[in-house]
Amino acid sequence: GAPGQDDLLAGLNPQQLEAVTYRGPALLIVAGAGSGKTSVLTRRIASLLRGREAWPSQILAITFTNKAAGEMRERVEGLIGDAARGMWISTFHSACVRILRREAEQFGYTKSFTIYDSGDSRALLKRLVKEHEADAYGLTPASVQSRISKLKNELSDAESYARQANMSDPAERVFVEVFADYQRQLQKANAFDFDDLIGQTVYLFRAFPQVADTYRRRFRHILVDEYQDTNHAQYSLIHELTRPVSGAAGSAPDPYASNGMMIFEPDPAPTADAGEPGASLTVVGDSDQSIYAFRGADIRNISEFERDFPGARVVLLEQNYRSTQNILSAANAVIGNNFDRKDKKLWSDKGDGDPIIGFTGYSQHDEAQFVADEVEALHRAGMPYSEMAVFYRTNSQSRALEEIFIRSAVPYKIMGGTKFYDRAEIKDALAYLVAVANPADEMSVRRILNKPRRGIGDVTETAIARFAEENGISFRDALSMPGQLGVGPKIQAAIGQLDAVLAEAAAILTPASGELPPPTAVADGLSLLLGKSGYLDALRASRDPQDEARVENLDEFVAVARDFARNNPEGTIVDFLTEVALVSDADDLDDESGSVSLMTMHTAKGLEYDAVFVTGVEEDLIPHRISAGEPGGPQEERRLFYVGITRARKRLHLSLAMTRAQFGEVTVAMPSRFLQEIPAGLIDWRQSPGDVNSRGGMQSRALNARRQGGFGGSGSGDRFAVKSLPGRDSLKPLSTAMDKFPNRVTAKMRDNGDLELAAGDRIRHVDFGEGRVDAVTGEGAKRIAHVRFDSAGQKKLLIKVAPIEKI
Ligand code: ATP
Ligand code: MG
Repeated sequence: GAPGQDDLLAGLNPQQLEAVTYRGPALLIVAGAGSGKTSVLTRRIASLLRGREAWPSQILAITFTNKAAGEMRERVEGLIGDAARGMWISTFHSACVRILRREAEQFGYTKSFTIYDSGDSRALLKRLVKEHEADAYGLTPASVQSRISKLKNELSDAESYARQANMSDPAERVFVEVFADYQRQLQKANAFDFDDLIGQTVYLFRAFPQVADTYRRRFRHILVDEYQDTNHAQYSLIHELTRPVSGAAGSAPDPYASNGMMIFEPDPAPTADAGEPGASLTVVGDSDQSIYAFRGADIRNISEFERDFPGARVVLLEQNYRSTQNILSAANAVIGNNFDRKDKKLWSDKGDGDPIIGFTGYSQHDEAQFVADEVEALHRAGMPYSEMAVFYRTNSQSRALEEIFIRSAVPYKIMGGTKFYDRAEIKDALAYLVAVANPADEMSVRRILNKPRRGIGDVTETAIARFAEENGISFRDALSMPGQLGVGPKIQAAIGQLDAVLAEAAAILTPASGELPPPTAVADGLSLLLGKSGYLDALRASRDPQDEARVENLDEFVAVARDFARNNPEGTIVDFLTEVALVSDADDLDDESGSVSLMTMHTAKGLEYDAVFVTGVEEDLIPHRISAGEPGGPQEERRLFYVGITRARKRLHLSLAMTRAQFGEVTVAMPSRFLQEIPAGLIDWRQSPGDVNSRGGMQSRALNARRQGGFGGSGSGDRFAVKSLPGRDSLKPLSTAMDKFPNRVTAKMRDNGDLELAAGDRIRHVDFGEGRVDAVTGEGAKRIAHVRFDSAGQKKLLIKVAPIEKI
């Protein structure tokens, strides 16, 4: 390597060394889990900067989550210090938002556009499906949404789809109409949905070659982690960026011009000219870890890399630095059952390590108790809670774990599953902000129209919409003319009040031209909106205990806004909304360590822990029953299981339950086929399916575990210690136990004991999505909701425990 790089290259094996130091147009690093792919990418960036081969601003690194981006940035900065500032290390989505904010005006958007998450898209589609009477053709908002998403990931739009669809089929015609209308509505609202962020950037580059040139000149080194999970749109984006500068005529936007959002740091970086070859591209991936086919990810992107980039260098890494050999042998054995893959054997020089521990519980509560007991035992033996993680296949499995963890006083946090920003009250607060930042976004304005209740019903809403349309003004602007809407004086007053609150907030959040709002503007504006609109007062006056939790959540949200101001003194309302919109699964609100991490196996990708618990290793869960019947489904599930077990450094636990109660029904569970694929000698069964014939045996086992003092006896766990041992039947209500844990809003929301539900209510379920309550039967803790879900069909849910929320 170049002089001064010894420390960067220290400890690398020969293949890793090549991957860090190779210089050429294209480099593909393919390797199994834990072989140092991400580490190599990080060092490669550091090495380019240290050797002065690139300016920070010439580097674009793409990671799978914002959290991964943050970690990579930290590590590069750790290796070479402040010189690393100015790099773009981000997810595909964040990078595209930055580009679109700057370029949106090229194609009819403004830079304060809104980002629709999947809930927003769904709400819009719900309206359109109704308007086009598409349900008569069997189309649901959910089915339309997933089809549109798939098409967008293929860079297909309504028009190009219509060209190859069978348009004599009325259902197809209606789908195309809804799709086209959806796109029109997004544009009208100055909004992009998640898939658009990528697709529209590709469109931008193709339609405006001089704009694409700006970015091609700038980014000379592009590096992509987790390449196996890129879809066609993302793949195309990379392709556009790595083309040679075209030198297209037309005035390219001046990269140094300040338009209030300076995205190009002024540094004297030499940039590429027309005729120079495209940026150098490095991608790393593992086809055995491809787990997003359902979102359009295409493993072929890896296998066809050499065709797309002739002369590409390929480096294989085989040594695993993460796990013990026992864990690796299990992983190799499992993934070896997938056909159609290149065999690669991972090896480790860490020695065999501890055996894998297997456990079969009678119920998911026994299973959860086993996990909690093991966590406590490891913790007493000196392992920090933050080094342990519990994985499951579906979010709803976390519930039993949470209950037992709370009883056992094990501190935990849920990654991804919190869905803080999906809560109705947070969505309302965001809608208020959006109504101010992007008044064109009619859906947001409509959302807050009657929240809190101001007596503005459907009739008034329609009157406002009609007035806006007739006069060629926006829905938002129509609110400023309550006197002309033809509504009664009371409603006029209510509308006038809302208009005044929005205007007052606008003065704080979006001051007149050029003026920079003070750093506290976002939090102040938010407080003002929630206060003066009467939103908070309405919640406080309510008797519904859920509303108390909602007030707390909103307080938390205001705190998030204050934090944002602290970290981004010049951040605007638009920056804040961008950050909120891009919070992804693995990104956590509170990154306090000292707790066990709970997450789905999808979220676990790229992470590592000393001890890992993979729970619910049962047929119908992993492999999941939905994918079991789909082509390629079981193989993808096997890769997901492989991702799960390869996260463990030292200890791996595989557990299952013989019976699983979900949604008020108890089902008998069978061990997952993947368990049988692991050589028997690798697993030490603490309690195997054969041992669990009597329920009493299980209970006394659990009791013994308690008597051994598993509850907070040890030093650093004291903060969460429970003084007396809770018997199973004398448990405190969930919400009081929850109070011990700051920020545990999720679980608090999930004690539905008092949730009032009636026929006609709309709810959202963690797994089944949205639906309508048909009837409620039963009494007290046994109340059951009969729900018809928009896409998941009819279900019976035990209200007290079901992971549902009223919307
Ligand atoms: P995954 O496929 O799960 O994303 P990966 O291939 O990206 O894994 P890394 O996360 O980069 O692997 O590395 C796994 C672990 O091995 C990390 O803790 C890393 O620090 C360590 N590691 C990587 N290379 C070496 C090395 N040459 N010497 C010592 N430790 C290493
Ligand atoms: Mg990695």
